[in-house]
This record gives sequence, structure tokens and C-alpha cells, in this order.
Amino acid sequence: MRHGLVLMPASASSSATTPLVDWLFLDLNSFFASVEQQLHPELRGKPVAVVPVMTDSTCAIAASHEAKKFGIKTGTNIGEARRLCPELELVEASHGVYVEFHHEILKEIDRHFPVHMICSIDEMACKLDAPRRPLPAAVDLAKRIKRGLRERVGECITCSIGLAPNRFLAKVASDMQKPDGLVVLLPEELPGRLLELELRDLCGIGRRMEPRLHACGIRTMADLWQAERETLHRAWGGVCGDRFWHALHGGASEDDPPAQHRTLGHSHVLAPELRTPPQAGVVARRLLLKAASRLRRMHYRATHLHLSVRTEDGPRCEAQTKFDPVCDSIVLARVLAELWQTVMKQARWQRVKKVSVTLMGLEAESQPQQLELFVSADEAASRERRETLSRTLDKINQKRGRDSVVIGFTPDTVRTFSGSKIAFTRIPDREEFQE
Ligand SMILES: [Mg+2]
Repeated sequence: MRHGLVLMPASASSSATTPLVDWLFLDLNSFFASVEQQLHPELRGKPVAVVPVMTDSTCAIAASHEAKKFGIKTGTNIGEARRLCPELELVEASHGVYVEFHHEILKEIDRHFPVHMICSIDEMACKLDAPRRPLPAAVDLAKRIKRGLRERVGECITCSIGLAPNRFLAKVASDMQKPDGLVVLLPEELPGRLLELELRDLCGIGRRMEPRLHACGIRTMADLWQAERETLHRAWGGVCGDRFWHALHGGASEDDPPAQHRTLGHSHVLAPELRTPPQAGVVARRLLLKAASRLRRMHYRATHLHLSVRTEDGPRCEAQTKFDPVCDSIVLARVLAELWQTVMKQARWQRVKKVSVTLMGLEAESQPQQLELFVSADEAASRERRETLSRTLDKINQKRGRDSVVIGFTPDTVRTFSGSKIAFTRIPDREEFQE
């Protein structure tokens, strides 16, 4: 099912400036039914309804793409569904399994870009940063996420993605093409394809809201688009109407990403020969450099570093520290060295079984650095030199193979550990093999 179609606006090619989008909204297609088809190949290509209990009096909580063609959807009574499609396959829901898939999906999306908001078990939104806002970059990100889900979570796991100036319109766009859709709504093209929709297609216009809009003379999307903000205020009976008007017309989403929720880290269970504190320290450093390299590749700076260590027979020891936004390996390695002392003192320098290093409080590189005013010219220049050096090391390692150049330890110390790809708890990106 590869129906992915990108609706490129006519102006995109002729305009000198690249169009921008701010949000990516992802909606998994027939989520529960797709998970069942993923786990039970005999159900693939067949009309499937997922039910809470096996009786005809219940309703479908999900319908496969094939079942939807018969008019069966979430909420369809099963007696009725069987009439619409006698060969319908019923499957009893396994919620635990859906939650597991949900987490696998989040993990996969996070490999490409941090998820800003989990809207439901099958809907997630990402607020794009400066490098991903230009339409070609955003489309590329969307395609990589789709491919990643198919290749690493399951071939039946498809999604529809919407790209738009705000979260509301991105969700609307994600609803416009199913399955496996990719729809772009550009601010400069509005109302554009919105006019193809019915009022009820929009999130926020339900069974109760529709008659209230009718009462205000709004019956079509064109009416809704042309309505004054005051009219919608009246229809909704308050500021919800103003918000709806604002969102419909492409205004920025109100909620900004809470930066401290973004993290990037690596952990490793050490082979017995690497469990002495000095060797474990090298592993920690190695994990940090890997995370820092990924941080730079994703165009972020970090403001917190967290280190956690589990000893062979003791409890977990941990510490974290806060600093001005950085992405260079030299400063981060220095911070880690201090944390290592603190944590290992807590651990009474026992043998280490597991090390986890996490960069937190990530900020997009393009974000102006707040304390810039208080940084001297010398400091700014030396920071720039360190960042340039770190990026140069990344490039060499990309080209010559990982650990060609490292900071603060001899590559041979950890070759045995960093050479084993499957030792990491998460599946690494292709680029990471060189980091
Ligand atoms: Mg869905």
C-alpha cells in the first residue's frame, strides 16, 4: 500500500522562496486492525473488525482498510457490519499489544525527530524546527518516518501524515488522504483543499456543534472560511470560537514544545571485561560522544546531562547537571568527567554493570541563545572553535569509520564494545554506525 502522494502547490516551483510548514501530524491507519494484520498474516488483505467482546451486539472499535470499503468503521454495530460484509473477520482486542506497538512507533518516530505531542494511541504531532520547516525537508522527514515504520515496526503499519502551519491544520491534512497519505496545506494556499471538506470533517465540529453553525448561516466550508471571527465566537459561545477561527486561518498553535521533555541518550550493559571503573568510564565517554554526535546531526544543543550507573550488586547511582546550551564534545566530555566522579563516589567505585548517558533540555540550534549578551567575544569565539572541531571530527568519523578520531581515550579500549551493533538497546540510525 504505497499510495503516498505529495500535493505540491503550483507556487512551490515558481516562487523564489521555499514554502514553510511548522507541524507534522501523524495518524496511524486503522491502527488496531493493522496491528492484528501485522501479527496475524492470515488476516492481511481481508476485512477485519476489532471488537471488545465476541458478540453481535457489540460495536467495532477499529476496522481494517478493507472493511472500511464496506462502510464499516469504528462504532459500527457488529450485527450490522456482518450484514454489510458477511466475510468480515472479527478479532478480539488485545490492548496490551496495541500499547506495545504504540511505544515501538514512538521510538521509531523519535529516531527521526522528537515527538512533541502524543494526541492519542494512534496520533502524534511534531513541531518542526528551522532545518525541517522548508517544505522539501519536511516532506523528506515524513517519508523517512513512513519508511521507518514499515521497515522497523511492521509492513502493515502505515500512517497518513499532514504538514501544515499549525497542529490543527496538520491534523486536518492527515485526515484528507487514507491510507498512507501525505498531504500538505500551505498557509499561502488557504483555503485551497479545505473547501473539499464537510464541516463535520473538522476536529471540533461534532454532532452538537454543526446545528449551531447552521444557525449562524454556516453550512459549507466556504461559509466557514468566510465567517468573521465574531461569528465563530458567537457560534461556539466563547473564546473557543476565536481559537477555532485562528487555527483555521493558519495561525500558530498556542502550545510551544516544552524543551526539557526532549532527550537523547544511550545506555549499555557492559561485558564483564569492561566492568572495572576505568573501563566503564571509557564506555560512558564513548556513549556521550555518540550522543553528542547525534545531537549535532539533529541540529540541537543540550542544557542538561544525566549520568546513571548500575553496579554489579548495588543500587543505581545517578547525577545530573545543568549548563548553557552546548553541542560540542569537548565541553560535554568535561561535564561528564565531573559527573562520573560524583556518581562513582556514590557507587563506592564498585564494578559497573550498566551505564546510561542522557542529554536533556534540547534546544534547536537556530534558537537564539538567551545568554548571548553576557558571553564575551572571546568566549563566543572559543565556543565556535570547539563546535567546529566537533563537527570536523564527525565528518572524519563518517568518512573513515567510527572511532577514527576520538577525544580522551584510545580507540582500542572500547573497540570490542562499540563494534557490536546489536549490543545497544535501541536500533541505531545508519549514520550512528560511524559516530
Ligand atoms: Mg488513526
